[in-house]
Amino acid sequence: MRVPFLDLKAQYQTIASEVQAGLQRVLDSCAFANGPEVAAFEKAFSEFLRIEQCVAVNSGTSALHLALIAAEVGPGDEVITTAHTFVATAWAICYVGAKPVFADIDPIAMTIDAAQVGKLISKKTKCLLPVHLYGCAADLDGLVPLAKEHKLALVEDAAQAHGARLHRQRLGTFGDFGCFSFYPGKNLGAYGEGGAVVTDNAEAAERLRRLRDHAQPRRYVHEELGFNMRMDGFQGAVLCAKLPHLDQWNAARRRVAERYCQELAELDGLSLPVPRADSEPVWHLFVVRHRKRDELQKLLADKGVGTGLHYPIPVHLQPAFSYLGLKEGSLPHTEAAAAQCLTLPMFAEMSDAQVDHVIASVKKAMAALA
Ligand SMILES: *Cc1c(COP(=O)(O)O)cnc(C)c1O
Repeated sequence: MRVPFLDLKAQYQTIASEVQAGLQRVLDSCAFANGPEVAAFEKAFSEFLRIEQCVAVNSGTSALHLALIAAEVGPGDEVITTAHTFVATAWAICYVGAKPVFADIDPIAMTIDAAQVGKLISKKTKCLLPVHLYGCAADLDGLVPLAKEHKLALVEDAAQAHGARLHRQRLGTFGDFGCFSFYPGKNLGAYGEGGAVVTDNAEAAERLRRLRDHAQPRRYVHEELGFNMRMDGFQGAVLCAKLPHLDQWNAARRRVAERYCQELAELDGLSLPVPRADSEPVWHLFVVRHRKRDELQKLLADKGVGTGLHYPIPVHLQPAFSYLGLKEGSLPHTEAAAAQCLTLPMFAEMSDAQVDHVIASVKKAMAALA
């Protein structure tokens, strides 16, 4: 048996007619950039999250970039974030001319450690940018009061956390801005590129709507530096078709995660993810840790189990960030996570037999490594 790391086709087959009807509406209307399907998705997604405003854009990276502009972050400012993330989190900080300052992660939760953040806040700090990595909540109970106390903007990178909750509230709605990606492999994925910024600030949302469309309050009037970051109509239609299924897909992911957690719990040397108390993760990725990660990955590949690495080189050690002068050893928990993490197959359509095969294969591989 082969179990892929992710199977987009399995999901498409369950919603093909709904998606095709939506794409046909876009073809019939020729509303290819923004347009009614995108507007309908913005309304539906803001209702889903219980937030006032949703501004759809052309990627999660653009969402982060525009959110930082709207949060008035610019040259000379520092933004505190995590290096255990996809690189786009840090790109956005650089795009606005600010400096990323990396706080180490909590080694259990794998998300940014609020105590470390507290130590790094300086006069230059303008914004906190936590990531709800793998679909698990970052420590908002620690970060929200810190942002308030120091009058910092709080921007959530919720690109992996569509529908996840902490204390019954959806992630992405705790800070000043929440940023989502609809890259195809995400829990809510477009059939192309997409992203969104959500906020309760109506004035900021209006500015975001202008910024994504060449900063035009009216046609051919450009009031500040603008961007072409509109969502295309086809993606709006796909996302409208998929959103009503999201909670059910996330629940299916939670059932897979529960089985992994139950059946892999007793294996010596294998660490399982530990979501925060009173949270509801959506398991974008199910990431385990092992000291011999590369050997474990190879043994699983031999058994037909596809795995991934998220993320094997932390952002502060990437060549593009060498100008920061951060050496190996500067973020010990982040670096250990990067060396040990291994992502198991996770998608809503996994069959019981596929989950069984992953569990049996991990147990055999662990026995071989012992
Ligand atoms: C996917 C992702 C992004 C970037 O989103 P794109 O849509 O690919 O631009 C940013 N941050 C995190 C944590 C992500 O997983």
